[in-house]
Amino acid sequence: MYALRDVPGKGKGLVAIEDIPKGTRVLLEQPVITTPERQRDDEWLKTHISQQVDSLSEHQRQSFLSMHNLYPYQNVAEQSLGIIRTNSLPIEADGIGAGIFLKACLINHSCDNNAQKNWNQSIKRHTVHALRDIPKGEEITIYYLGLDSSRAIRQKKLQDKFGFLCSCRLCSLPTEQSQDNDKRLERINRLDDLIGLDGMQMIFSLRTLRYVDERVHLYNEQGPGNSGLPRAYLDAAQIAIANGDLARGHVFAERAVEGWRTALGSDSKETIEYGSLAQNPAKLQLYGHSMKWKTSSDEVPQGLDPNDFEDWLWRREEPRKLDQLGQLTDLRNYKIFPGFAALPNSNSVDLEFYGKVDGTYKPLHYWCFLGEIVDSITLHHLELELMDVDDKKIPLHFNTDGRGSELEPAKIQRGHTVAVLYAQRHVFMYGDPGIRHENPQMLKIFPVSLKKLLELNDQVQQFSTKVDGTRTCHGCSKKAESLNRCGKCSLFWYCDNGCQRIGWNERGHKADCKLLKDPDLRGLFVLKWD
Ligand SMILES: [Zn+2]
Ligand SMILES: [Zn+2]
Ligand SMILES: [Zn+2]
Repeated sequence: MYALRDVPGKGKGLVAIEDIPKGTRVLLEQPVITTPERQRDDEWLKTHISQQVDSLSEHQRQSFLSMHNLYPYQNVAEQSLGIIRTNSLPIEADGIGAGIFLKACLINHSCDNNAQKNWNQSIKRHTVHALRDIPKGEEITIYYLGLDSSRAIRQKKLQDKFGFLCSCRLCSLPTEQSQDNDKRLERINRLDDLIGLDGMQMIFSLRTLRYVDERVHLYNEQGPGNSGLPRAYLDAAQIAIANGDLARGHVFAERAVEGWRTALGSDSKETIEYGSLAQNPAKLQLYGHSMKWKTSSDEVPQGLDPNDFEDWLWRREEPRKLDQLGQLTDLRNYKIFPGFAALPNSNSVDLEFYGKVDGTYKPLHYWCFLGEIVDSITLHHLELELMDVDDKKIPLHFNTDGRGSELEPAKIQRGHTVAVLYAQRHVFMYGDPGIRHENPQMLKIFPVSLKKLLELNDQVQQFSTKVDGTRTCHGCSKKAESLNRCGKCSLFWYCDNGCQRIGWNERGHKADCKLLKDPDLRGLFVLKWD
């Protein structure tokens, strides 16, 4: 399956001499030398190690003594200690701290490793599994460090502890991409804190599930077969099960088990333990903590397209509703988004806009006034000067209880756009006619100009709507029946990663996607006002 070969820049390493499929157990090994878990002084260690070296076969002894050594030595005992410090892998069971494995210790490091090492306590062997398909000729690599960290920190640790400068794919990325990668890692670590490190601290809320969803998304952006995935899926399973949702709990637990089976093998503790959880999610102690999301294991929906299935699984209700409604509105529709001149007057009931329901007048349809902030002053109350869709300037007076102080000051900025639901024309005692704003819930401010807001809406209509069974790729403008949607906003669709990159970097989706994540803005686009 593999052979010891020269690897450019790294000395020797294990190289695949045939295609190795993902999940293959590449190595299964017992240690030839071990060191204890407890701290011991060098003299004690040297004796302890020498005894083990002496009892090795001649072939094993030679293999051991030819291993890389970062430490100076004057005799075989010191050399052996140096080799162990340089090469040993953790065992952390039965009082043993670490051990030398004649094959596994020959595997080089990569920050983008294609294989995973693990001490499997159930079979008391060290294993190495392919995390993804490893093509013939590719070097087999493992990850030497603990937690993922930024390039600078990784490189320093590898240099200090193992004496080499890592030149793996991730470490050789151009500066900008490397910074993106570091940011991703930083966010993953931050999410780790937000999610909580174990079941005891975790809050089993939809918000926490959102964090896990984001984390899985970031892992997948990092590359295939990330070893953090099974843990993330287990977190998701626990959140679902704690809320009585056995269907999702089952799917998440199966994904966790699948990940561990790949990385650690069918006989690992994790695969076995969580395999039985996937079979029977109701057995988890957390089950029934709440029954808010109650489902049974057999309620997993069948026949959904993969994107819709993921939306269901992660309870991403918002984007789904948007698609189901299919009621994307046109912000240029003057009847729904009228200029100031077309608003009903406040001094009488305009029966084009209002009808009587149970004795009181209610709006007959949806309308919303849009205006861009051109100025603001605060005297008795906040007053904004707005430019409407007809390029006409009008004042908006805050007659709310807070007189405008209820708004985040950062939102009141020239160039931001105000939306007022069911706005009316009001004639003030003094000054120009304008809008008299009383109920804080009827007003929203978006951090974007009116022109930009309209353009974004045009784009969403163009790129997220299906016409005659096809959508248009936002990267290359080709029409196709099956495209992949942007995992962040679910509104733009792409042929592949290449087109998505073009959309993101060259066609402005990076900034737009951020705007489109705002539920209020999405709501505006589907006439939904919460
Ligand atoms: Zn690296
Ligand atoms: Zn395309
Ligand atoms: Zn997006």
